[in-house]
Amino acid sequence: MEKVCKTCSKNFEIRKEDLIFYEQIKVLPPNHCPDCRMERRLAFRNERTLYKRACDLCKKDGVSLYANGTPFPVYCHGCWWSDGWDPITYAMEWDKSKPFFEQFRELKNKIPRISLLVIDSINSDYTNNAEDNKNCYLLFAAGNNEDCMYGRLVQRCKGSMDCDFLYDSELCYECMDTRKSFKCMYGERLQECIEVLFSFDMRNCQNCLFCINGRNLNYCIENKQCTKEEFERKKVEILSTYENIEKAKEKYSALRSSALVKYASATKCNKAIGDYMYNCHEGVRIFDSFSTKNCSYIADADDVLDSQDCNNIYTKAERCYNVMGSLTCSNNISTIYPMYCNDVHYSDSCYNCISCFGCVGLNKKNYFILNKEYSKEKYLELQKEIISQMKQDNLYGEFFPPALSPFGYNETLAQEYFPLTKEQALEKGFNWQDRTTGTYSKETITESNMPETIIEVTDDISKEILVCIECKKNFRITKAELDFYKRMNIPLPHKDFECRHQERMSKRNPRKLWHRSCMCELKKHTHGVKKCENEFETSYSPDRLEIVYCETCYQQEIY
Ligand SMILES: [Zn+2]
Ligand SMILES: [Zn+2]
Ligand SMILES: [Zn+2]
Ligand SMILES: [Zn+2]
Repeated sequence: MEKVCKTCSKNFEIRKEDLIFYEQIKVLPPNHCPDCRMERRLAFRNERTLYKRACDLCKKDGVSLYANGTPFPVYCHGCWWSDGWDPITYAMEWDKSKPFFEQFRELKNKIPRISLLVIDSINSDYTNNAEDNKNCYLLFAAGNNEDCMYGRLVQRCKGSMDCDFLYDSELCYECMDTRKSFKCMYGERLQECIEVLFSFDMRNCQNCLFCINGRNLNYCIENKQCTKEEFERKKVEILSTYENIEKAKEKYSALRSSALVKYASATKCNKAIGDYMYNCHEGVRIFDSFSTKNCSYIADADDVLDSQDCNNIYTKAERCYNVMGSLTCSNNISTIYPMYCNDVHYSDSCYNCISCFGCVGLNKKNYFILNKEYSKEKYLELQKEIISQMKQDNLYGEFFPPALSPFGYNETLAQEYFPLTKEQALEKGFNWQDRTTGTYSKETITESNMPETIIEVTDDISKEILVCIECKKNFRITKAELDFYKRMNIPLPHKDFECRHQERMSKRNPRKLWHRSCMCELKKHTHGVKKCENEFETSYSPDRLEIVYCETCYQQEIY
């Protein structure tokens, strides 16, 4: 079935499988294309824009996802989870003469929100969507790390800095999509590597520089064997000055853009279309996901079954639709941050709830609508009434309207994956945050006086205010950060952490797919004299320089 997206006016397809799914969970087919649906969910997730804001209950200073001046109060972790307030006191009576979203918005704007989403962490104040971290700083969507700074999606790592999508690694710097690696820098898609620098798609390699698609290499520069001395000399030379690092980045970038790549980053996957997938089975438009089965239009998912249109959904989720940010959930529809919930619809930040509709901030509740308790019979009757009203308005199943997000578009993950200008965002109905964090023109060291080498930097640098060469925002170097640069012998960055993150993310493939065919013309392959004719959906757009191969051809070239 073809439809026209209500947001971007592009045609999109609703698959047979999708229709069956919508029927099973009794929602209407979507009015928006998959990209616009994902964008809307992402606009409800602020991971990394943090503000200094005091708790509205205990008045203690703290850090918050919400700038001052929100319609709702913001409580610190301790207060939010205390008996000092009760979400039920805000209960509202369902009024069938008014639209549901209007009433939900009224409720939502009264209920206190938690300042940051952090669980069981030690000395890690500036982290969010994070758990079990120790001595970490500005780390997001991250868990079980120690001494890590400035990263997104960092799991079970130690002493690493400025890395995104880093897993089970130690002492890594400026790496992405890297696993089980040690002391690697400026690398992407490294697996079980040690001291690999400025390299792409490497597995089980050591002491490599400017290498691409390497397997089991040791002491190589530009994929050619070198001596230990040559490698060490070159490495020291590059890391010695900021300028040399910038040149090395350019050289790496040129090498990388001509790399041989597999159409998608997919390992142990079967009938799964998307990118950055591991152990995913049956589904389309799957991104950054692990262990999914029969899931489509999802991203940042782990251990999820029979679900569609979900983001940041983890640890055993089943039959969820339009969910943003959840742990261990089943049968949830259009809900934000449901944790351990079953059968919760159109709700926000609920924990351990069963059968709730339009609720905010509840814990351990059954049969609640707009935070008001009902008998099971009454609950089912009212729920039916609300759903039929929403169906009449052709809204049931759809995610919350963009204006209901507590964040500006530019504070959220939506800006990261679907960047918009303020005008474009407002036109699409999203909010925008004009209040930016940080300062400008307060630098005590100017751009041109930034140290070029690490040797000339003393501990006093942590007292100085620096300026980002990209966005001109001020930034500082923390003591722990300086210790890292000294230990690894690398010069100070000349960009603030946000611009560093954006520079890394710009190298990652977008969450978009193009239909292309394999570029392989190698006669030795099974396709023989003819060019390989295998077709696929790939996140490499046709104008990119990489040589894109199908699974079979890639496997024959790179083991
Ligand atoms: Zn659209
Ligand atoms: Zn408090
Ligand atoms: Zn091929
Ligand atoms: Zn081939």
